[in-house]
Amino acid sequence: MTKPGDPRTIAAANGIASDDTFGAVTPPIYLSSTFAFSGFEKHRGYEYSRTANPGRDLLADTLSKLEGGAGAVVTSSGMAAVDLVLSVVSKDSLIVAPYDCYGGTYRLLCARRDRGHFDVAFVDQSDPDALASALARNPSLVLIETPSNPLMRVVDIRAIAGQTRAVGAKVAVDNTFLSPALQRPIGLGADFVIHSTTKYLNGHSDVVGGAAVCATDDDAERLRAWANITGVTGSPFDAYLTLRGVRTLFPRIERQQANAAAIASFLENNDAVSAVHYPGLPSHPSHALARDQQDGFGAMLSFDLAGGVEAVRAFVEAFEIFTLAESLGGVESLVAHPATMTHAGMGAEARLAAGIGDGLLRLSVGLEAEADLLADLEQGLAAVRRATQTA
Ligand code: PLP
Repeated sequence: MTKPGDPRTIAAANGIASDDTFGAVTPPIYLSSTFAFSGFEKHRGYEYSRTANPGRDLLADTLSKLEGGAGAVVTSSGMAAVDLVLSVVSKDSLIVAPYDCYGGTYRLLCARRDRGHFDVAFVDQSDPDALASALARNPSLVLIETPSNPLMRVVDIRAIAGQTRAVGAKVAVDNTFLSPALQRPIGLGADFVIHSTTKYLNGHSDVVGGAAVCATDDDAERLRAWANITGVTGSPFDAYLTLRGVRTLFPRIERQQANAAAIASFLENNDAVSAVHYPGLPSHPSHALARDQQDGFGAMLSFDLAGGVEAVRAFVEAFEIFTLAESLGGVESLVAHPATMTHAGMGAEARLAAGIGDGLLRLSVGLEAEADLLADLEQGLAAVRRATQTA
């Protein structure tokens, strides 16, 4: 399975030409739910696909290598991966999470807290005082999401991991927005990396999946065992498609982030837009940190339309290329309205506290031609001008 070298080589070539049976260049898919024993009490490495499957193991191995981990578990969704990592804490422990995390993560944390599984403190992790007082409460786990969804806030993984370790807690980083092509949290001190592989890793919006990568063998073993107990492991077919996507991860994300950078500059210079949130802009409050911590600024951005909900409606209904849809990280450009879509489950009060306003839009920038994307946005903004002038 091992192909040495650069992460680009790992992404493109891990597992290629490793089939000893027929010499298939592309690793085969094993859809079988069960595997024949070679004799009494003798299996050939695989017994049952909930527990382990060759193709899913190859994806886990590839993701673990890309993240610099000791092992990974591939799950049926990103939420299953978040939940799997939450299984490391015992009852009555405290989890510290970002107050502006992905809405589904927020909902899961609240649901488990309300069932008495653990306590949660949602904090602004870029505020040193807020973070210090949360860490003083002896948490077991600190969850980080950087850049955050949808406001693209960047926090210092190395600094937070150091402070967290000092209080004896573990650190998990949701790396969905950048993928290991642009950020590798384990090298910065994280114990776990979480992915919704639905996004950049698969990259084609045709699989829902997830992964939890662990820095140590012990944690990887622990998560594998729990994933087998709860049955949250991903399907062989999804693993096959996701691995197919991973092989083009680097060129996709590089091209997509070039488009995103052009769009961010375009929006920043437009009167209908009151704020652009993209770490690649020198005006972003954490631009320097993002430059230092990341290998690129990524292809996600969000911005506030000055005209509020009316402007949002006119904007999203004018598009020809951008599709109004949830999710992100695919080859196609998507626009989402967090307040009514991805972050609706958070509730208005929590959204307000996190700074997610009703005029905020999030873009997942795809692989289309830059000029076409800019023309589409221009057309949306012209519709906003018409709507707000007549209102
Ligand atoms: N983490 C982040 C940052 C996400 O954006 C998402 C989904 O949008 C998830 C986790 C959950 O992933 P999934 O939808 O694959 O369950």
